[in-house]
Amino acid sequence: MSSLIVNSILQSSDVQLKLIAQKVVDAERISDTDALWLYKYGELSVIGALANYVRERKNGNYTYFNRNFHIEPTNVCIFSCKFCAYSQEYKHKEDGWELDIKQMMDRLRKYDGQPITEVHIVGGVHPKMDVHFFGDLLSQIKAHRPELHIKAFTSVELDYMFRKAKMSIKEGLTFLKEKGMDSIPGGGAEIFDEKVRLEIAGDKCDSAKWLEIHETAHQLGMRSNCTMLYGHVETYEHRVDHMSRLRNLQDKTGGFQTFIPLKFRNKDNNMSHINESTLIEDLKNYGVSRIYLDNFDHIKAYWPMIGRSTAQLSQSFGVDDIDGTIDDSTKIYTMAGSEEQSPTLTTEQLVELIANSGRIAIERDTLYNKLHVYDYAKPQLN
Ligand code: SF4
Repeated sequence: MSSLIVNSILQSSDVQLKLIAQKVVDAERISDTDALWLYKYGELSVIGALANYVRERKNGNYTYFNRNFHIEPTNVCIFSCKFCAYSQEYKHKEDGWELDIKQMMDRLRKYDGQPITEVHIVGGVHPKMDVHFFGDLLSQIKAHRPELHIKAFTSVELDYMFRKAKMSIKEGLTFLKEKGMDSIPGGGAEIFDEKVRLEIAGDKCDSAKWLEIHETAHQLGMRSNCTMLYGHVETYEHRVDHMSRLRNLQDKTGGFQTFIPLKFRNKDNNMSHINESTLIEDLKNYGVSRIYLDNFDHIKAYWPMIGRSTAQLSQSFGVDDIDGTIDDSTKIYTMAGSEEQSPTLTTEQLVELIANSGRIAIERDTLYNKLHVYDYAKPQLN
């Protein structure tokens, strides 16, 4: 079906669209100008067809998920990103939460005997939780459950803890890797454009540092993810610039596993006057990113952020991964007003959600090794 639509796009009288479609069919990289054109003038149906073509060439009819849970050590944070509804200032820390290592290990032990493959650890930047505190946490997790993949700490958290410990990025990452950190999540990227970043997240690690931390992690043999916070004050040019910096780094290292667009939510933050992006805009954004990021294997829709229905739709707009079971273990998006206020899906529900989208679910581990194929998809009416 997707090839038929793409063939008809190739016959389009619009020269620019025809050019982009031809590049997609030839597996040729589209330019920044092409991506900008798609954002500005591309019809959603056309973007969807092209993105789906790329998605199916890379990942067939499969959609990935994993069995995971989150540990959020604290929401106390020294930074004050305007879009954040999650953080608590240090001077009011009693209104937030601060978990000690025993409390975090108790959370981990809840999953003893369950086939979870990943723990995702991120939180606020707490001035008293340093690299040694987290090193101790990582060691204890590995001692308790050696096979569990630990994906931990955004570049924002890492930058602060390394600076405080007077460690270089390489020294800090090596230290945490030896303690048990396996990979790095993609948070904290927001928007790389320096002016916009200054406006919405002025006091935390800058774009160059974010990219340097990921590049160093890749050089040390760790994989990582990357994100883009969209739908606030940025323009389409800023989105393309952001993805261009990621695509360039990926050309250099090949260390990114997946790109995760993150939708700006406007509840209880200092940007509440800004309307959220529409569903059409969300789907368009998935689609353009799938077409543009030719050197990325996966595009992820994070279902706790966009809700289950959009996660289903997104799979026709380039997405091939909808994250994991979560088990209501993250508050980052629920506190910002996302549809999912207690994000938990059983494996059966995730498989069903994917099958109902006409795709075949694959359970993966963090590194996209295929653990189990749930070999059925429900036929779609069209
Ligand atoms: S987004 Fe992260 S760094 Fe920024 S205030 Fe919130 S918790 Fe802190």
